[in-house]
Amino acid sequence: MKKTITATEAADLLRREFERLKPAGCTTCKAPTPYWGPGIRSGAGYWYLRMIAPCSFGCSRVISKVWSDLTNEHEIRRSDEESGQNRFKRAVEERGTGAKKKQFSKR
Ligand SMILES: [Zn+2]
Repeated sequence: MKKTITATEAADLLRREFERLKPAGCTTCKAPTPYWGPGIRSGAGYWYLRMIAPCSFGCSRVISKVWSDLTNEHEIRRSDEESGQNRFKRAVEERGTGAKKKQFSKR
């Protein structure tokens, strides 16, 4: 079974692996941060990685490889299941009570 990790852990892992495998000559490329977007076919969400511009050392190939290994070995938790969810929940709850108050004052 795949190990489930958070997006933050995935980004850290990607950065670490890239630093390890990065072509020695390149000093400019950095591992991009994965971002959550809608799935192309299913409509369910999916983690994407914005590819870096190709450099003469082939870093973008290294990143593609690291990313595909990472996503083969790990399940990245959906973005809305992370700490952001609590913030979202709170916002909904606040909106909820606000609506109730409004309704109450009308009566
Ligand atoms: Zn590079």
